[in-house]
Amino acid sequence: MIAFLFKINPLFLRTVIMKGCDQMLFLMILSLYGSIVGSFAGVCGMRIVQKQSFYTGRSHCDKCQSVLKWYELIPLFSFLYLKGRCRTCQQVIPKEIFVFELFFASFTPFLWLTGNHHWRLLLFQFLLIGLLAVLAYIDIKIQLVPNQVHLWLMCLVLLNYQGIQTHIKGGLLIFVPLFILSWVTAEGMGGGDVKLFGSLGFVLGWKAILLIFSYAVFCSLPIAMYMKFYKGRDGVPFVPFITIGSCLFFLFNGR
Ligand SMILES: [Zn+2]
Repeated sequence: MIAFLFKINPLFLRTVIMKGCDQMLFLMILSLYGSIVGSFAGVCGMRIVQKQSFYTGRSHCDKCQSVLKWYELIPLFSFLYLKGRCRTCQQVIPKEIFVFELFFASFTPFLWLTGNHHWRLLLFQFLLIGLLAVLAYIDIKIQLVPNQVHLWLMCLVLLNYQGIQTHIKGGLLIFVPLFILSWVTAEGMGGGDVKLFGSLGFVLGWKAILLIFSYAVFCSLPIAMYMKFYKGRDGVPFVPFITIGSCLFFLFNGR
């Protein structure tokens, strides 16, 4: 081993270290972008739940209305620095924003590390997961999937066009059986979840939606059983599992 180390050309070693540093720096920049998107997604989710507009002028505290300084807008850092409270009135900053920032900061570099080095595809995955994360948050809080979201989602097809047949098949493959099932039995998934499988399937194509459906069902079953048998509650919000399924799909099958 030592003999091997002595034989390494210093120039080669320097190149390897430089490449490693470049890669690390690049992943950190991606992570920073991820945390910014996560922060925006978290704020969007909260504003929709509170029935407020996304754009309400400069970022401010909802309680004392004080405008946030530049260092209070840095994702992750600002929450930790301020210990989760407003600088002026000590109002608690919702932890959900921090969770969103942390999730996207961690998840985004993994998208790159899975081998997806195509900028258009990376942007597509980035936006799609951002949108789904907002929907997951809304579903958990108020059990609703806003109808206009399906249109935004379907617009993303422009970044991931695979041929009209693939998209139409994707839109129908899971949507139709679930729609018939919920229509005949008047039970099962909510209408919002069913429509989401339609729009998501249209954007991603039939192979992807089949895998995402499988991942989502597989992940939700233990939680649904726990809620039914230990908490006596029927049904769990399903959009979070569709989001988890989509993340797993992009990480393991998304190239
Ligand atoms: Zn305040």
